[in-house]
Amino acid sequence: MVEPEDFDNFDDYLVALAVELDRYADVPDDVLTDIVRRDGSCMWVYTNSEIPEWTGNDLTDRELAARICASCTARLACLELELRTAGPLTVGVWGALSEQDRRALYMVWLARRESRHGGGLS
Ligand code: SF4
Repeated sequence: MVEPEDFDNFDDYLVALAVELDRYADVPDDVLTDIVRRDGSCMWVYTNSEIPEWTGNDLTDRELAARICASCTARLACLELELRTAGPLTVGVWGALSEQDRRALYMVWLARRESRHGGGLS
């Protein structure tokens, strides 16, 4: 998976991330949901009733996202699902991105999906 530090500017990172998400384009929502529920690091924390390590820290959203999701193997599935279901209204920390970064990614992601579907998502 691409990482922000691999790029000179954040916009290039978002484009590369949208390209990576292309491989999830044909995966049904319920399959993505199963992946996130089964493999998501935060799901494990919550189902084990432990207090997340990051609670109470004075972190920016971007730092918080990076910390919560750093080792999660479901990041791409999580991102794909959130972009599909919440779109530009996405809030909180999902897929290792802050909501501001995810909204920026959404515009890139949507343009790629619309071009894939000939100008519009159905
Ligand atoms: S990417 Fe982050 S928010 Fe999504 S399932 Fe993994 S830990 Fe949870």
